[in-house]
Amino acid sequence: MSRAGIDHDQRRRPVSLADVDTDEAEGTDDLPTLDDLGFDDPESDLPDAGTEAARERLEAFCSEDIYRYDDRRDYPAEGTTSRLSQDLKYGTIGIREVYERTVEAADDAESDAERESVEAYQEELAWREFYTQVLYYNPNVVSRNYKEYENEIEWRENDDHLDAWKAGETGYPIVDAGMRQLRRESYMHNRLRMIVASFLTKDLMLDWRAGYEHFCQHLVDHNTGNDNGGWQWAASTGTDAQPYFRVFNPMTQGERYDPDGEYIAEYVPELEGIDPDVIHSWHELSDDERDEHAPDYPAPIVDHSERREEAISMFERARGEDEDEAGDGDDEN
Ligand SMILES: Cc1cc2nc3c(=O)[nH]c(=O)nc-3n(C[C@H](O)[C@H](O)[C@H](O)COP(=O)(O)OP(=O)(O)OC[C@H]3O[C@@H](n4cnc5c(N)ncnc54)[C@H](O)[C@@H]3O)c2cc1C
Repeated sequence: MSRAGIDHDQRRRPVSLADVDTDEAEGTDDLPTLDDLGFDDPESDLPDAGTEAARERLEAFCSEDIYRYDDRRDYPAEGTTSRLSQDLKYGTIGIREVYERTVEAADDAESDAERESVEAYQEELAWREFYTQVLYYNPNVVSRNYKEYENEIEWRENDDHLDAWKAGETGYPIVDAGMRQLRRESYMHNRLRMIVASFLTKDLMLDWRAGYEHFCQHLVDHNTGNDNGGWQWAASTGTDAQPYFRVFNPMTQGERYDPDGEYIAEYVPELEGIDPDVIHSWHELSDDERDEHAPDYPAPIVDHSERREEAISMFERARGEDEDEAGDGDDEN
């Protein structure tokens, strides 16, 4: 299965653009429609496309949420980010136009906190430029670790775990919510991208390339530099990567960034209406308790605490270190 549960084999074969009679094509400004091009309508809920829609998003964001961005951008239920990534990816809006509008927003800020919030947003725009530069000067990063380790990282192979991760069936609610948002909307909030990427590489100990490939296929905003940079950061193989011993705790992340379980309930209907305390302690419940609360939602497929230790050891072997030489080894977030 692929995007939003559509089986690629069941899709009609796209026709060549050269064969499309654009004079006959229906649609805005005589552009060929998806139907003309031989594609079924996407099942994902996609944002409106085009420059006009992008400018509306920019304007809405810069007149309000940009001033709360610094404080609230990590809370996926609040939708406080700009949602401009697909526009920047396709060039329906340019980075200079976005940046210039943020400069105006900074001028209009009513406090230092608001000005700092605008700067926090501008810094994210700068990450995009940074990862573009990294890719330009290091095109090999699309398939190879940026950071060299002394030994090969002994990633595991486990198709069942990879499939459970893709389907949002890992039994870790915040991870599953993120993966299901990706399937439903071809988009995932940044905090979730970090959480699910950490889960794949550290809890499941699977190669970041498998996750990157899945994101390439499914993200409406897939941008090689950003996607690769994000994956290699999470996998501790990138430029400014997350240290290998700092492993995201998926329960703590869920509790911290979705305390009321609102985002989780939106994408994981099996957990709708369940007390957030139960959702955030899903891994600690007995099978009977899980059955009682949400019989259709799976138990955790791995034990986070065990996997965290194993992942750290995997990286220590790759670094050619024994445990005594390793980092502080006790850093969890
Ligand atoms: C594993 C992983 C994969 C990612 N894959 C992509 C991808 O394919 N395409 C993509 O555009 N971004 C990617 N990102 C970065 C980030 O998650 C998205 O840019 C962001 O979620 C898009 O939503 P937004 O436009 O509302 O972001 P905002 O928070 O409103 O940010 C505005 C813009 O700044 C840029 N930006 C924001 N955060 C980052 C970041 N961490 N790195 C680089 N640029 C950033 C993007 O262009 C974004 O549209 C990835 C991050 C991770 C951890």
